[in-house]
Amino acid sequence: MPTSPGDIDASVPPSGPGCQECMAAGDWWLHLRRCAACGHIGCCDNSPNQHATRHAETTGHPVITSFEPGEDWFYDYRTGQFVEGPALAPPEAHPLDQGVPGPPGAVPRDWQEKLHP
Ligand SMILES: [Zn+2]
Ligand SMILES: [Zn+2]
Repeated sequence: MPTSPGDIDASVPPSGPGCQECMAAGDWWLHLRRCAACGHIGCCDNSPNQHATRHAETTGHPVITSFEPGEDWFYDYRTGQFVEGPALAPPEAHPLDQGVPGPPGAVPRDWQEKLHP
């Protein structure tokens, strides 16, 4: 199923360098996802807080893309399929020195035990 107008707004820059909700709470994440409709940066489903999926559920914004360096896939929650997408407003990924998991200083020693499978 192709994405429809409004699912993706390539002109909107990302909300920030890290997960919007985790940064506000002083929390941490594994990987970052970017909402293709509004630029919201949220954490992936392996992260403790799963903010990217929660954002999609609460807003109805259906398409995310990766905010990880070197990854350019898009994913449509409605179909569970990876889809093609356009180049979005830069930056295309979080800063390299932010690390994975991130951000520096907020990642607990036993972070691997806190991931979702
Ligand atoms: Zn988060
Ligand atoms: Zn959104």
